Amino acid sequence: MGQDTAAAAASALRLLNSPDLRHQPATAPTGRHSTPTTAGTPLNLAILDYLTEHVNQVVTHTRELAGDVPAPAGLEDLYHWYINETSNAPADQQAVRDTLIETHRLEHLVRLGEADEVCKHPCPKCGCWGLMWDHGGNRARCSNRRCRTPDGMTSSWTLARLAAQKIQRTEIWRRNAT
Ligand SMILES: [Zn+2]
Repeated sequence: MGQDTAAAAASALRLLNSPDLRHQPATAPTGRHSTPTTAGTPLNLAILDYLTEHVNQVVTHTRELAGDVPAPAGLEDLYHWYINETSNAPADQQAVRDTLIETHRLEHLVRLGEADEVCKHPCPKCGCWGLMWDHGGNRARCSNRRCRTPDGMTSSWTLARLAAQKIQRTEIWRRNAT
């Protein structure tokens, strides 16, 4: 956990920040010519908003714990910076940090079209490996028909909930291993 997840989250973030994605129009162009990607192409504001929001979440939590530390050198350093600056924080806050990094990793992958990654998490309720990603609902749904909420709906989970489950399992494993 920790550095591996941070590295995976950083490489997904780097992909999202690539000029191809940032300059891709949010809607398909209707012009007669497909325009080449140049500095003059309008930025995809949805991606920029997404990147800004995620960077702000990390910087805000880091500064809550570590004071007014200088910002990371670049996007690719964001998660290593987060871990390094908060390595002396209380254990519960380090778990909050690790959960946020794992949540970001999953969110970046879904955004990149790799929602299969979500299915590598077991369902937090029934434990089965049958989660399906629901793009419209922005949640993972359990495909076990007997796994229902009290009012009969399919069990569904946010990425943050799946990330929290993974961090808790890792913590229990680490405690039992030492
Ligand atoms: Zn389930």
